[in-house]
Amino acid sequence: MRAVRLVKVGYPLQLQEIPIPEVGVDDVLVRIKAAGICHSDAHYRAGVSPVHPLPLTLGHEVAGLVEQVGSNVRTLTVGDRVCLHYLVTCGECVYCHRGSEQFCASASMIGKYRDGGYAEYICLPARSAFKLPEDIPFEQGAIMMCSAATSYHALRKTRLKSGETVAIFGVGGLGMSAVQLARAMGALDVFAVDINPTTLDV
Ligand SMILES: [Zn+2]
Ligand SMILES: [Zn+2]
Repeated sequence: MRAVRLVKVGYPLQLQEIPIPEVGVDDVLVRIKAAGICHSDAHYRAGVSPVHPLPLTLGHEVAGLVEQVGSNVRTLTVGDRVCLHYLVTCGECVYCHRGSEQFCASASMIGKYRDGGYAEYICLPARSAFKLPEDIPFEQGAIMMCSAATSYHALRKTRLKSGETVAIFGVGGLGMSAVQLARAMGALDVFAVDINPTTLDV
């Protein structure tokens, strides 16, 4: 399959031909339909944030179609539309049970510590794949797994209650998600604050 990979920090990504990954008994193989470009990817390429082992396929905002399922997988079938959690975790520790899987000791991020979504296929545990409703495009499903999820987490941390007023500072990708999510979470007034007038026009 074709994959766009970071071969060396500080250098452009390279299109490479690599084998389609082997599907383990608990895994799914996903044919990728959309993969977001996150600012973190620019950091990895520039060496600001560690990424290994190289060469590595970047991309941690991924959605696609289930192409193959491992023999133990009961929750997904071939053809399912899915979006992918960017952390592969154990699913058994206290943090995974608590919904704080970012603290799981075995957490490994796709597109940073294992191959990610800038490729034709990705293989990962079935528990990392979530069904994507028909009416949500793959592109939106992909970014929901990083930028929109980050905004959602931040809003939850504010303990926002229905009827309250929210100001979102910086209306880029995350901020745009935050504006919509704040409204969906019941905020009565949502102020979008930015120094760039073209961003505010959107
Ligand atoms: Zn991201
Ligand atoms: Zn865990």
